[in-house]
Amino acid sequence: MPLPNLLLHVCCAPCSPHIVVTLLKTHKLTLYFYNPNIHPREEYDQRLSEISSWAKYMEIPLVADDYEIKKWFAAIKGLESEPERGKRCAVCFDVRLQATAKTARRLGISKFGTVLSVSPYKESALINCIGKDAGEKEGVIFYEADWKKKDGYKITTKMAQQAGFYRQHYCGCVFSQRQ
Ligand code: SF4
Repeated sequence: MPLPNLLLHVCCAPCSPHIVVTLLKTHKLTLYFYNPNIHPREEYDQRLSEISSWAKYMEIPLVADDYEIKKWFAAIKGLESEPERGKRCAVCFDVRLQATAKTARRLGISKFGTVLSVSPYKESALINCIGKDAGEKEGVIFYEADWKKKDGYKITTKMAQQAGFYRQHYCGCVFSQRQ
């Protein structure tokens, strides 16, 4: 039986290895990089370059979408002063997961997921709720997960250190960079 396809949204290399290696046991993966939240452009390019090299090494296809930062700023308008883990982050997840669901449908992949819930700073229940809604809109299934469970964050961090990945010191947007 061939493994089912899954489009996995990735935000950066250091968050991804544990999740990718786990999902590869049960799915045929395609990685999807859509993170218009990342600021500045140089940082975006660095994160994309790191995950692209690793995907190539792992022989997993990666689809990188456009850097739509204006669209992202329009989506979070009015929420600029929100703290990390506040309302701006919910919109930020929504922008990225809507795009992932749309791309999964376009590519004919019936399931999609994200590595975002591995972060101890991100609420998994909220991510799952937003992912499910995005999937329903596009007619694709969201793979619900809480990747930080069972030491998921520790494991992925260790794997990233061993691989020598570049690791950023802020979540991604200009507001998290300032904080
Ligand atoms: S802190 Fe992170 S999740 Fe929240 S809006 Fe900024 S980039 Fe997005």
